[in-house]
Amino acid sequence: MSAVEHADLTCSRCGKETRHELAYAGRLLAAITCTECGKVIERDLRARYLTDLRQRLATKPKRMLRRFRKDPLRFASSLPKTVPAKPWELLSEIRLVWRTARAHRGDRTTARRRP
Ligand SMILES: [Zn+2]
Repeated sequence: MSAVEHADLTCSRCGKETRHELAYAGRLLAAITCTECGKVIERDLRARYLTDLRQRLATKPKRMLRRFRKDPLRFASSLPKTVPAKPWELLSEIRLVWRTARAHRGDRTTARRRP
């Protein structure tokens, strides 16, 4: 799922250690935002995210089976809660990855125009 964490990092614009917001898409770090000046460092994760997502989906049945074997009752009772949330979590991840990647496409266009 897409999640936000916080960490104190040195901001190149502020020139000091400030609070940063780290936006994760699944297991991958997608964007880092300085909470003081708003400077954003974004990464184009599309290729890596899709590989990671494919792995997560491929191993999912195995993971679910393991949970089922460990504790069938708890697994069954957790299903109604966990299953409907997933498509939304997935959507918010994908939205984050593509939003941060769009900024990169802009960078590349500017770079190409230079002689
Ligand atoms: Zn800053």
